Amino acid sequence: MMKAILKKEAKKGLWLNDCEIPKCDPRHVLIKVKKTAICGTDLHIYNWDSWAQKTIKTPLIVGHEFMGEIVELGKGVEHFHEGMIVGGEGHLVCGMCRNCLAGRRHLCAHTQGVGVNVNGAFAEYVSIPVSNVWVHDADIDQNIMACFDPLGNAAHTALSYDVLGEDVLVTGAGPIGIMAALIAKHAGARHVVITDVNPARLDLARKSGIGHCVNSSDEKLSDILKTLDMKEGFDVGMEMSGSPIALNDMIATMSHGGKIAMLGIQPDDAVIDWNKVIFNGLHIKGIYGREMYETWYKMTSMLQSGLDISSLITHELNFNEFEKGIRAMSEGTAGKVILNWE
Ligand code: NAD
Ligand code: ZN
Repeated sequence: MMKAILKKEAKKGLWLNDCEIPKCDPRHVLIKVKKTAICGTDLHIYNWDSWAQKTIKTPLIVGHEFMGEIVELGKGVEHFHEGMIVGGEGHLVCGMCRNCLAGRRHLCAHTQGVGVNVNGAFAEYVSIPVSNVWVHDADIDQNIMACFDPLGNAAHTALSYDVLGEDVLVTGAGPIGIMAALIAKHAGARHVVITDVNPARLDLARKSGIGHCVNSSDEKLSDILKTLDMKEGFDVGMEMSGSPIALNDMIATMSHGGKIAMLGIQPDDAVIDWNKVIFNGLHIKGIYGREMYETWYKMTSMLQSGLDISSLITHELNFNEFEKGIRAMSEGTAGKVILNWE
């Protein structure tokens, strides 16, 4: 048996439980989990909001941001061995649809989520298909390894468009927005401006090394453009807040022909000024997950070449203190919350 954090009942909460250690199926690997990180998705599942009620079948072991060590190989697994330090891509793809067959697995039409549709990683052990395993550079800090999933969302978004010498706007200074801003700087953007409405999040962005942190509830982006002597607006936008207000602020300050990548999940009734998109020739791209495995490769090489996201780890707790971690996340002041499983 093992300890696991379980969505046991269809109501608010998560429960620490004894569960069976998962079987290591053919072409799977069994991983002993060392560290996990809490994601906004886990918060939705905890709170049992309408998305969670529609999506989650109980009982379910939650969690998808993790790192650990391979302890068992399923039948037919080659090129891996016990003791490897690994992480896991949390999107399980079908392998059979048009995009999967073409090698565009991040666009699979039948994606299943670890810790959402199948048992997850907030446990002492997790079993995933070997095709979802990422072998880490063992020199990377293990807390950072546990954040490869959200860092991958940030990298996928931030590297969607060329940012070298460009002016970049990131709306939403949550952990993923801050990571994306740091990547844009690392990738050679000229100005990187990040907005939020929560002063604690803007402080975190400032401490992480973002120079232009704007509270969009009391400063106008058009004024920021003047201060930075920017004449025609932002070249690249990364929407990381999920707020229609932020998205509209972005659309209003993009240069003509500007490119927007959208990661933040908008409410059902979000409205934008489509004519600004049309007359200003804007490009909009939706981002889901990470590219398998180009994003993982780039994350690794950026960390090896000086990208530093360590300031975003604000809490390190033991797994049995997960309630404390959920509370810190809910208050909107935390960056990434790590849970240790050893
Ligand atoms: P988060 O909730 O921690 O951060 C969002 C931030 O946006 C918060 O700090 C909030 O204060 C800020 N915000 C709210 N209104 C704003 C406004 N009007 N202007 C500027 N900022 C505003 O979320 P996160 O974990 O950093 O994730 C970012 C977004 O990406 C979320 O919407 C999340 O649901 C989404 N997400 C999408 C994917 C995907 O694959 N598409 C994956 C992970 C997360
Ligand atoms: Zn597919």
